[in-house]
Amino acid sequence: MRRIAFFGGSFDPPHRGHLAIATAAADLFALDQILFAPAARQPLKGKYPATDFLHRYTMTALATQADLRFVPSLLDAPKSDGPNQTRPNYTVETLGKLRASLVAEPEPTALFTLLGADSWLDIGHWFQSARLLALSDWIVAARPGFSLAGAEAALPPEVKAERGPSAIDLATHAANHSSSALPACDLTLHHADAAITRVWFLPHLKEDISATELRGVLDEGHPDPELLPEPVWNYIAKTQVYRAENARG
Ligand code: ATP
Repeated sequence: MRRIAFFGGSFDPPHRGHLAIATAAADLFALDQILFAPAARQPLKGKYPATDFLHRYTMTALATQADLRFVPSLLDAPKSDGPNQTRPNYTVETLGKLRASLVAEPEPTALFTLLGADSWLDIGHWFQSARLLALSDWIVAARPGFSLAGAEAALPPEVKAERGPSAIDLATHAANHSSSALPACDLTLHHADAAITRVWFLPHLKEDISATELRGVLDEGHPDPELLPEPVWNYIAKTQVYRAENARG
């Protein structure tokens, strides 16, 4: 069975923190692909006017080029009402479409969503979060400054969480135990329609880097290459995309 993860975000710009959590998830879960999908407009990020989608997509393609498992994706591109669209992109719709397209393919595919602890802790506020949580399994990367102790409390009330794998999952795990078997999950989510999805935490990641901080230092020249992939920096330097007069909302 193929394994694919959806990885949405602003990617404004994509940085080594994104690549580090994607690498950890791809290695641990033997993922065939991670779809890095810049969002045209994120509903919960109202304050900062995101850089033009085309720049963010291009930078994402450059950031992901060194790992064949990482694929830049247009799944969350601006919708047909144009770049000044007023309606945000909702993950429940994007993930729903991805899931439907995978179900239609001949080869069965397991679908995961990758996100950081800050995003997870906010998940109860996402549009139709209960429906969203039933659409895939979830991989949550730790992030400095955000405690996963509150991870269960972040769930919407309609979703019931059980610590650890469900009995069904344990039986499948025992039957399939091989190098490609999944690790035991941290939470099993029970949904209103009796569907089950799972959540894994990656608690050891400590990538102390954010796009907001990076944008703050880009004017001062090349930030630490440990923070920003070289091809992304070259693109930013050439296009001056983060100069105030070029930034577009
Ligand atoms: P900003 O600082 O502008 O909020 P960001 O660095 O959080 O940006 P996004 O592109 O919005 O970047 O993040 C996409 C996803 O990657 C989110 O789920 C976020 O939680 C996760 N993520 C980003 N940086 C890290 C990090 N350093 N450690 C763990 N997860 C991260």
